[in-house]
Amino acid sequence: MNKKIWLSSPHMGGKEQVYVKEAFDTNWIAPLGPHVDGFENDLCNFIGVQAAAALSSGTAAIHLALILLGVKAGDEVICQSFTFSASANPIVYQGAIPVFVDSECDTWNMCPNHLRIAIKDRIAKGKMPKAIIPVHLYGMPANMKEIISIAVEFGIPIIEDAAEAIGSSINNKPCGSFGVLGVLSFNGNKIITTSGGGALISDNENHINQARFLATQARDAAPHYQHSHIGYNYRMSNVCAAIGRGQMEVLVDRISQRRSNYDYYVKHLGAIDGITFLAEPAGYFSNRWLTTILVDASKTNGITREDIRLALEKENIESRPLWKPMHLQPVFAGTTFYGDGTSERLFKNGLCLPSGSNLDKLDLDRVLNEITKALQ
Ligand SMILES: *Cc1c(COP(=O)(O)O)cnc(C)c1O
Repeated sequence: MNKKIWLSSPHMGGKEQVYVKEAFDTNWIAPLGPHVDGFENDLCNFIGVQAAAALSSGTAAIHLALILLGVKAGDEVICQSFTFSASANPIVYQGAIPVFVDSECDTWNMCPNHLRIAIKDRIAKGKMPKAIIPVHLYGMPANMKEIISIAVEFGIPIIEDAAEAIGSSINNKPCGSFGVLGVLSFNGNKIITTSGGGALISDNENHINQARFLATQARDAAPHYQHSHIGYNYRMSNVCAAIGRGQMEVLVDRISQRRSNYDYYVKHLGAIDGITFLAEPAGYFSNRWLTTILVDASKTNGITREDIRLALEKENIESRPLWKPMHLQPVFAGTTFYGDGTSERLFKNGLCLPSGSNLDKLDLDRVLNEITKALQ
């Protein structure tokens, strides 16, 4: 059997173990410590925000963001439907109700037109949405100019799910810095990883201080353990942050490696009838976390994205359908949705190709060879 080619696997830079050793040597093996502080600084500098809280996951970051914005039981929160479930699950942790909005074709992310329709209809039904969660899927920035202008018009705060988009930007403004609060993830399959982890970022230092307080069990200032709020155990460990510090040193390289994967795929598949890629709109910069294709079976002699996925799987190559929209998930059956079928169509025809920064030319050629064969 040929070597397994993964969709997106961890890619260490080299310095991670040095920093982890430092954590061991100084016995900072706790959900706080100098690497946590250092990692937060690295994130602030890279993204250009005032404050960052390193957390146990991106999901925890979204949960804390909702709490900070006062989302409570029975409230409604608007969320991009085309995303990973972690964007929406924390809404339900709060007892709040997700309202899902479809994608646009240009970015595959939240459609501003449907967002406006959704907000107006919710207001007409007597429910002012408490927050909007757009997502930058696969690293492609959402249409933040339009989304922000709608959010401002109706006075609704944005929680920006940039879990897949560290290093992406629009007109050089980094993803994660557009919303009132931004969310990052360092899970094992993301562009950089701390093995598991996330961060909440913002220009509002009060929000981030409050996030740190809630993430460490909401302990009041007292010599004994005293609590006036419900707290969480959501802080990142100093050992994980040590890995993160090493990963930050190679992030720029990782982005260019992922982007050259994309370019290589486009170069070899771009001319094939029925295979299309998602191009960057003018001024948009994607970290190209995952390279994705759409397969139009009416132009490929009936070959579907599933045929290609199975052909790759047979050769020990991992690929994956695009995210299944939340409004089509059994767990969210009956949830309100505003859209026109765009995300459903993307799910039906789309495939994520192996995109790790540690793939070499031979790996990519193996993938390309199998796709070309499957299409014959
Ligand atoms: C990975 C991811 C998250 C959640 O991050 P975790 O660190 O895995 O909890 C949230 N949203 C999106 C879009 C993601 O891809």
